[in-house]
Amino acid sequence: MDYKPKILVIGSANMDMVIQSDHFPSPGETIIGGKFSLIPGGKGANQAVAAARVGGEVSFISKLGKDLFGETNLENFKNEGIDTSLIKQIPDQPSGVALITVDSSGENTIIVAPGANSHISTVDIQAADSHFEHAAIILTQLEIPLPTVLSCIEKAKKKGKPLILNPAPATDLSEAFFEGLFMITPNETEAELLTGIQIRDDDSAESAAKALFGKGVQNVIITLGAGGAFVYTEGFKGRIPTKKVQAVDSTAAGDTFNGALAVALAKGESIEKAVQFALKAATLSVQRMGAQSSIPTLEELSLKN
Ligand code: ATP
Repeated sequence: MDYKPKILVIGSANMDMVIQSDHFPSPGETIIGGKFSLIPGGKGANQAVAAARVGGEVSFISKLGKDLFGETNLENFKNEGIDTSLIKQIPDQPSGVALITVDSSGENTIIVAPGANSHISTVDIQAADSHFEHAAIILTQLEIPLPTVLSCIEKAKKKGKPLILNPAPATDLSEAFFEGLFMITPNETEAELLTGIQIRDDDSAESAAKALFGKGVQNVIITLGAGGAFVYTEGFKGRIPTKKVQAVDSTAAGDTFNGALAVALAKGESIEKAVQFALKAATLSVQRMGAQSSIPTLEELSLKN
């Protein structure tokens, strides 16, 4: 019951600075906005926090600046029980930040300054040999340099460890990323960018998943927002629906899905069961505001049906 599988997450950590406003400023204009919030974010960090909250023993490889946001993020990871021994604070770069404005209709504009995240390098991956060896599952995304992501994939293959690639944000990838990859988890937009197939229904989701499977990925899972997820593996092909809910904020829904999926798979669940668990976690997260603030704990998930 209490077994905590080891999950290794490699990725970005940001500080999200969010201002709510009636409208967006035009170029050259200064406006007085509303509420300001400072929220830890970044896809890597969100997925590490999600995996830790739903029962993983998480190690996180990332980089932060030696600044206030770096300290705050580090403290946050420690509070979540995440192993921070592989997180480096570098002196010559600021921590990653995202400047976000949200207008009264819920529309947003986001500009990210990756800062220290751009310096997570293949050297950092080479130095993490024992963490790769001890991990039950490895999880990474595309908010860090692509050669670093590729070196994670290659190292995981060499060590015989399953790696989940969440190909977000949407970026074109060379064939080297796919061949022999254990699992890929694009959303609809990312799946379309990677395959050229627009996802409109179950048939087109299956075609896109099949195309990724054809590139050499062993297990393809396309998340479909309120539609759940389409799974394409050797043994199971089909859409797994999720509960109908009143969504208030989908920020970090994909990150929650990936963190929960990694933990369930690492605990030995079948892919179908693991996807059901990840859907439950992600669908709960969209009913709450914010990124990390919306990610549920294992306790909350076992209480909900
Ligand atoms: P985001 O970028 O907003 O973090 P995403 O685009 O990467 O998310 P989605 O496919 O939108 O990923 O959503 C991931 C999962 O979150 C879905 O598979 C589902 O479980 C849940 N989800 C998202 N939107 C909804 C919704 N409107 N209703 C119920 N569940 C949802």
